[in-house]
Amino acid sequence: MLKPTDATRVHATAAGTGPTRRQLPQWIAHLPPCNAACPAGHNIQGWLGHALAGRWRQAWDLMLDENPFPAVCGRACYHPCESKCNRGELDAAVGIHAVERLVGDMARQEKWSPLRREPTGRRVLIVGAGPAGLSCAYHLARLGHTVEVREATEEPGGMMRWGIPAYRLPRDVVGDEIARIAAMGVTIACGQKVEDVLAEKEKGAFDAVFLAVGAQASNRLNIPAADGRRLIDGVTLLAEAERGQAPRLGRVVGVIGGGNTAMDVARVAKRLGAEEAVLIFRYDRPHMEALPAEAAEAFAEGVKIRWLSVASRFGASGVTVEAVEMGPDGSVKPTGRFETLPADSVVMAVGQHSELDFLRNVPGVAIEPNDVVAVDD
Ligand SMILES: Cc1cc2nc3c(=O)[nH]c(=O)nc-3n(C[C@H](O)[C@H](O)[C@H](O)COP(=O)(O)OP(=O)(O)OC[C@H]3O[C@@H](n4cnc5c(N)ncnc54)[C@H](O)[C@@H]3O)c2cc1C
Ligand code: SF4
Repeated sequence: MLKPTDATRVHATAAGTGPTRRQLPQWIAHLPPCNAACPAGHNIQGWLGHALAGRWRQAWDLMLDENPFPAVCGRACYHPCESKCNRGELDAAVGIHAVERLVGDMARQEKWSPLRREPTGRRVLIVGAGPAGLSCAYHLARLGHTVEVREATEEPGGMMRWGIPAYRLPRDVVGDEIARIAAMGVTIACGQKVEDVLAEKEKGAFDAVFLAVGAQASNRLNIPAADGRRLIDGVTLLAEAERGQAPRLGRVVGVIGGGNTAMDVARVAKRLGAEEAVLIFRYDRPHMEALPAEAAEAFAEGVKIRWLSVASRFGASGVTVEAVEMGPDGSVKPTGRFETLPADSVVMAVGQHSELDFLRNVPGVAIEPNDVVAVDD
């Protein structure tokens, strides 16, 4: 006999002759797994429905309710929505990412623009013109607020411009989606690093400030460099490559790290002329930090990797690495077995942190030792 559950309603229980309906399905609206997994909070099921019916503009409008960068995300987002798509259990995930890119590109081509509400008279200062700052600027401008963004570098975009390599995210795509935000009346002032946020707030009579400074500073490992060699950091190298000012890396480049940034650095090093790019990574393959798709593309381009190795010195004869062993708890142990690999340059891609000095004089703001702002519950 069927038993009622939370999701069913017993409708008729009286026993009788012939078939008797005992339960009715009950529709319960849950967030689909794709939507729940999307960091931008996209209403994916909504806009896929519009796209399926050919209502492209409505699809775009719905995307823009959450995210002003569909053409960027349709290319650079690692699409966790698709990893969670339960259609994948049947055959393959729905190509959400590709539809987002298609609709994002239609908007660029057709020059669609979002609507703005009546001006509210409120003024907001945003520090940093990366995707976080620009998204905030867009949402506030839509609500009718006056927004000014201050950006330290010479162009807006943050890591969309200075980090993610152009072969993965073409700069005209970034430029078009930023131009649309600027066209809503958002002021984006570049080359203006904010050093004293309270003074800026007061000077501009802003009602609020949104901080979106990202994580610009590379973490560094204490690896001695000799014979005039110096270790380069990954995000600096990527930004210099973007500016056309990358240093000469030589024939063989060692890259310390095994995350997505390390993959980008190794691939960029090859594009800058290195014949070999070798990742030096402290864990084994199952513990690789890069997404499998990012790593697969790098390996397909000939990037090599030394698993279970840590760099201990860089000098004229190359980079000395020590083999390590991994314990079951994920900890690594030195083995005392050293080897010197040829390397003309070594780049560190071992994470980044925020530079928050400009916040230190703000009353009530505490900065934790790992360079994040302390927040309460
Ligand atoms: C190499 C690399 C590749 C990546 N690839 C991908 C990818 O493929 N897909 C993906 O989804 N994510 C990727 N990411 C992560 C993604 O780029 C970041 O999560 C995202 O850029 C963070 O956005 P943000 O706006 O917080 O910070 P950022 O993009 O870092 O922007 C912060 C901005 O603030 C400015 N700023 C900082 N301090 C000040 C100040 N005091 N005054 C004024 N301006 C200031 C900076 O110059 C910068 O422009 C990648 C990151 C890196 C480093
Ligand atoms: S590809 Fe688009 S819909 Fe999917 S997770 Fe990324 S931003 Fe969200």
